[in-house]
Amino acid sequence: MDYIDPHIHMVSRITDDYATLARMGCVAVSEPAFWAGYDRGSVDGFRDYFRQLTEVEPKRAAAYGIQLFCWLCINAKEAEDVSLSRDVLAMIPEFLDHPNVLGIGEIGLNKNTKNESIVFLEHLDLAVRYNQSILIHTPHLEDKFQGTRMILDMLCDDSRIDRSRVLVDHVEEHTIAEVLDRGFWAGMTLYPVSKCTPERAADMIEVYGVERLMANSAGDWGPSKPTAVPDLIFELRRRGHRESLIRKLVYENPIEFFSQSDHFQFAPRDGNHVTI
Ligand SMILES: [Zn+2]
Repeated sequence: MDYIDPHIHMVSRITDDYATLARMGCVAVSEPAFWAGYDRGSVDGFRDYFRQLTEVEPKRAAAYGIQLFCWLCINAKEAEDVSLSRDVLAMIPEFLDHPNVLGIGEIGLNKNTKNESIVFLEHLDLAVRYNQSILIHTPHLEDKFQGTRMILDMLCDDSRIDRSRVLVDHVEEHTIAEVLDRGFWAGMTLYPVSKCTPERAADMIEVYGVERLMANSAGDWGPSKPTAVPDLIFELRRRGHRESLIRKLVYENPIEFFSQSDHFQFAPRDGNHVTI
């Protein structure tokens, strides 16, 4: 089955991973900007990273028939430095016209601090002023419930934001309902060691359905599995779910959400056209 991974950090992956993804049916990925594992020292460090996301990585993906789109931001982990964050925010518009940029992300909170909130709100303002979709990172483990609620409150307090253009990622059993109830898209991140397993994701699908829901692998530099979305496909098949439901989750929903970005020029394979 053709599928799209809406949140995967291919800059951290080897070329063999592209080959494996292609063989598993992956036809497109979207890659949010994230923390490199160390704090970058200057705005030029981010400029180079954004060039990697907009120039280098799409070519690496295209060699395997995969379209790569991306999102730009300074992530919450580095947002403690408000001055550097503002320099990065001022530089991001240089890249917003690039044909593979879908919007601003992954923005959010990490430790739910005041500085993180300041930088988060300034990202929202940037997204609104430049008519960009938004991809949200919610905190992990003990900070998740409180952080997700803080993020949703900040999003809902800004009446300029179109909730159908916001994807809130890393939802789990205790956060998914509020994200969907408030009108946002939700993304389940499938991880081998934390976040959510394919089995837990399948349980959530059985409770909440697949409307405004997606699944991703994160596929980053830590312990993660870039083929986690196919694992979920197999789990849903094992449980007897319809192919049409699976296809909506892993293919049609990403297309519907991404199509709200002007730059999402997606070319389905022959015989595989989707009408939304
Ligand atoms: Zn991420």
